[in-house]
Amino acid sequence: MDTSSAPLPWALLPDNASVGGDGQLLIGGCDTLELAAEFGTPLFVYDEDHLRARCREAVAAFGPGVSYATKAFLCRAMARLAFEEGMSLDVSTGGEYHVARATGVPPERLVLHGNNKSVEELRVALGEGVGRVVVDSFDEMARIEQLVAGGLAPPRVLIRITPGVEAHTHEFVRTGQDDSKFGFPVYSGDADRALARAATSPAMELVGIHAHIGSQVFEAQFFELAVDAVAGFVNAHGLPELSLGGGLGVAYVEGETAPTITDWAAAIHRACEANGITARVTAEPGRAITAAAAVTLYTVGTIKDLPGIRTYVAVDGGMSDNPRPVLYGSGYETFLPRAVQAPRLKLVTVVGKHCESGDRLVVDGRVPEDLQVGDLLATPVTGAYGHSMGSNYNKVLRPAVVFVRDGDARVVVRRETLDDLLRLDVLDPQGSE
Ligand SMILES: *Cc1c(COP(=O)(O)O)cnc(C)c1O
Repeated sequence: MDTSSAPLPWALLPDNASVGGDGQLLIGGCDTLELAAEFGTPLFVYDEDHLRARCREAVAAFGPGVSYATKAFLCRAMARLAFEEGMSLDVSTGGEYHVARATGVPPERLVLHGNNKSVEELRVALGEGVGRVVVDSFDEMARIEQLVAGGLAPPRVLIRITPGVEAHTHEFVRTGQDDSKFGFPVYSGDADRALARAATSPAMELVGIHAHIGSQVFEAQFFELAVDAVAGFVNAHGLPELSLGGGLGVAYVEGETAPTITDWAAAIHRACEANGITARVTAEPGRAITAAAAVTLYTVGTIKDLPGIRTYVAVDGGMSDNPRPVLYGSGYETFLPRAVQAPRLKLVTVVGKHCESGDRLVVDGRVPEDLQVGDLLATPVTGAYGHSMGSNYNKVLRPAVVFVRDGDARVVVRRETLDDLLRLDVLDPQGSE
């Protein structure tokens, strides 16, 4: 058990975090206590300039064509921001495609992913002239060929190859190994067959190869292995593009460090050079763009002391706004925004309000000793795969999301209301209510 009493590591907070006159946390010049009072809790607070800075860093490191993986966090404000900063957008379903298009992102700036794209998803994307389709299976190729035979223009495609690389990350987010539902494996010869078919099919313009080894990967070495594994294919076919997907890890808790986007790009570029790859190399960061940009604010509702066991601190959200701990056993830090630099002497387990014992947000987190009911409690680094993977399990209302910048806060996703819970509900198919 960790009994260290250190304050929250400052590096886990968004770029534009600062300390107010009373020791409270400000983000983007906005007092987090005031944000909670104005917008309610739970609340996702994103530092807009942090998001913009990471998008710019990605464009500087990889060049235009680098895409933001929208599944990490998507709403129209986020789609617009990434687009404005020069990124393309990765979408992996018709739903993500729709949100990006509803924002006004032009189809040529979208990259369509997915291991099971439906005919309808492909029809819309091809019909509008989507920028790239990352082809994942022979069944998908057949669908594309059928749609093009029906009169749609042949799309530009990348072939997704499963390079046979086992990155050190949670098995649920590892995608580069042979035993994967994604892509064409190298070991079975499918990668070769897929490239040969795409190269000769009049229904596709083959422009490149794609390989995504997984998410929350810390060691550049795994991306280098992926480059080594796909280099032969890129060079043999003289393809102009290579995308290494996303997957760059971020630090969530004390003691973790991750490469920057710039470092990651440099490692990938070095590996490409070493393999004689002249293709334009790009990537699709999601987590590295949004994770550290946000904190989640909660209100403490109950505190339960179990002498000799643990202290449960229950907040007004939980696995519905951050399912990562229950899905992957992910760790988070916790702190009190009213005293962001205070020593954290009390060991607690932060839990949500759902009817599950697994509804834990922070196991053995540390908070100041004077924690009390009614306090605002926060978890940092919640900007990726929190809101986007959220649910309204137990009919808990989905939190609002605010972007803060230069002392101003704007709502980009409003809080769900009780009426929203009935919006899709049909009680009497004949009646009006
Ligand atoms: C999930 C995913 C990404 C983004 O991954 P991060 O770990 O968030 O950077 C990029 N590309 C593909 C194909 C993905 O599935």
